[in-house]
Amino acid sequence: NELNWSAIKSGLPGWMEDARGIAPLGKVASYIPELSKADPQSLGFHLLSSDGTALSAGDCGRRFTMQSISKVFTLMLALMDIGEERVFSKVGMEPTGDSFNSMLKLELVQPGIPFNPLINAGAIVVSSLIAGSSNEEKSDRIAAFLGRLAGGGPLELDEPTYRSESQSGHLNRSMAYFLTDNGVLESGVEDVLEVYFKHCSLLVDCGQLARMALVLSLDGLDPDSGDRLIPRRYVQIAKTFMVTCGMYNGSGEFAIDVGLPAKSGVSGGILALLPGRAGIGLVGPSLNRHGNSIAGVHLLETLSKEFDWSLF
Ligand code: GLN
Repeated sequence: NELNWSAIKSGLPGWMEDARGIAPLGKVASYIPELSKADPQSLGFHLLSSDGTALSAGDCGRRFTMQSISKVFTLMLALMDIGEERVFSKVGMEPTGDSFNSMLKLELVQPGIPFNPLINAGAIVVSSLIAGSSNEEKSDRIAAFLGRLAGGGPLELDEPTYRSESQSGHLNRSMAYFLTDNGVLESGVEDVLEVYFKHCSLLVDCGQLARMALVLSLDGLDPDSGDRLIPRRYVQIAKTFMVTCGMYNGSGEFAIDVGLPAKSGVSGGILALLPGRAGIGLVGPSLNRHGNSIAGVHLLETLSKEFDWSLF
C-alpha cells in the first residue's frame, strides 16, 4: 500500500516535461475573461500521502481558482446541511454525456431537475441549498469549510475572477432562470449565482488541493487530528460522482485511462485521490475538448499506468 516514493521522485521531472509538451494541443478557457490570462505552459503537481509524506513539482506555489472542483465540496456541505433526501429531490445522480455548461437535458427529466450536482446546472441548484441567512453567510460557510479541509483558515476569494465570471455568466444565468421556471430553484437567481460564482472563485494552490483530496481519501477524517470532518456516507456519494461525472463527458475515458476519483475545473486544476493512501492536487491551465487540463490528465495517466493506481 506504500507509495513508491523513490520511483515517483526520479520519474516525475521527465513525466512533467512530457505533459507540458502536449499543453499546446489544448486551450486556456476564455469564456471567463479573467481565466484567459493564465500561462498555458505552467504545470504544478502535489502529492500528499496519509502518513504525511509530500512531494511537489513545477509551479506549485501559484494559486488558482477552484472553479468546478468546489462543486464536490458544496455538494457535501449541502448534504451535511439538509440531508440526502432533500438534496436529491432537487438534483439527480446520473451522468449527462454533455459538456459541463450544457442546458440540453434540463427539459428532459421530470420534474426538470439537473442530471447531477457536478454539471453547472446541478451545482447552481446545490448552491441554493447551502444553509445561511444571507448570501454572505452562505459564502463564508463554504470558504470556511473548504479552508478547514485544506488545513487552515477560510479560503480567499479572487475578486477579479468573481467579477469577471459574474459579468460574463450569461449561460449560467439563463440556466438559473430556466431552473426557476421549472420550480427547482426557489431563491432568487442573482442570490444563488452570487454564492455559486463566489465558490468557483475561491483560491487554492496544489498543496491545499492535495490536502482536500487526502481528506476524501480518508473518508472524511482530518489527516492530522483524526477528527471527522465529513460523514463517511457523504464522502462516498461525492467520490462516486467524481468517478461517474468528475471529468464531465471525459469521465469514461478518464476512468479507463486513470481509474481514480477526480474532479476538474476550467482554470486547469484537478483534484484526484488514491483511496486510503494519498491526495493529489495539480494545475495546468491548457484544457482539452472536455474542459479538463490536458497536461494534468496526461500526467495522471502516466502515473496511474506506471504505478498501477487504477481502482478497476
Ligand atoms: N465557474 C465555472 C462556470 O460556471 C465552472 C465551470 C468549470 O470549472 N468547468 O462556468
